[in-house]
Amino acid sequence: MNGKTALVMGVANARSLAWAIAEQLLAAGARVGFSYQGERLKGELDKLLVDKPGTWSMQADATSEADLAALMDRVKQEFGELDYVVHAIAFAPRAAMEGRFVETTPDDWNTALNVSAYTFVAVARHAEPLLREGGSLITLTHHASQQVFPKYNVMGVAKAALEAATRYLASDLGAKGVRVNAVSAGPARTVAARSIPGFGTMFEEAGKASALRRNITNDEVGKLGLYLLSDLASGVTGQTVYVDAGAYIMAMKPQGTE
Ligand code: NAP
Repeated sequence: MNGKTALVMGVANARSLAWAIAEQLLAAGARVGFSYQGERLKGELDKLLVDKPGTWSMQADATSEADLAALMDRVKQEFGELDYVVHAIAFAPRAAMEGRFVETTPDDWNTALNVSAYTFVAVARHAEPLLREGGSLITLTHHASQQVFPKYNVMGVAKAALEAATRYLASDLGAKGVRVNAVSAGPARTVAARSIPGFGTMFEEAGKASALRRNITNDEVGKLGLYLLSDLASGVTGQTVYVDAGAYIMAMKPQGTE
């Protein structure tokens, strides 16, 4: 990826899935810029980037049109053009994930769908003028888009919208040779995941129920991200690709696991 440029959005700390993908991009020789939501995350990111020469970072709330415009100005100033975007952003108010889905309020619905799905559309729109032919965008999703997971609630609906948006974006951006895909990851212990009530149990159950009888590693998410961004996936677009140790293919837990 020498000569390629990437924007990575959504690193909160070293456990973030966005960081796992960024590490792969950096190891492959890409130049990488980062955006983070709030100044409180800056210190964490600065620590991660201290031994990564050529990287830069800037604050950008993905729900703010002004922040996204300023971010793309910075991308243009740093890189001129852009090859890759990693969107690893999601949020739902805790109350919406504690109760019953049927009780989701309009405000919580709008917040979850706006932050977790619409921002991918907004980011793609702002990035489009800078994207080179052969470019590639990825987002992060979860199988709760397709099947019911306890307490995932409105986030499951947001992930379904995100995956549908991925297909529509792939159609629009495909006209200029840019690909758009979603990485559907099994559970990983991150800040966002810990906000899901009962996540610890879900994590353990997913490990036992997977074809590989284990959980995925962040590194495995990073490697799938790298593949989808790279020319190795030059014919792949509009897809939701799973890295879940073979969890969702199983109708029942494998024999021999409890
Ligand atoms: P994470 O480290 O907490 O990353 C989530 C990031 O989204 C944080 O940096 C967060 O910033 C950022 N964010 C939230 N609202 C934002 C906004 N308005 N503007 C800009 N950034 C915003 O957790 P993660 O698990 O790696 O999450 C990354 C993606 O992977 C999410 O889409 C998540 O749903 C998805 N995913 C996670 C898992 C899992 O089990 N961990 C599985 C499948 C998919 P703040 O900290 O400031 O809120």
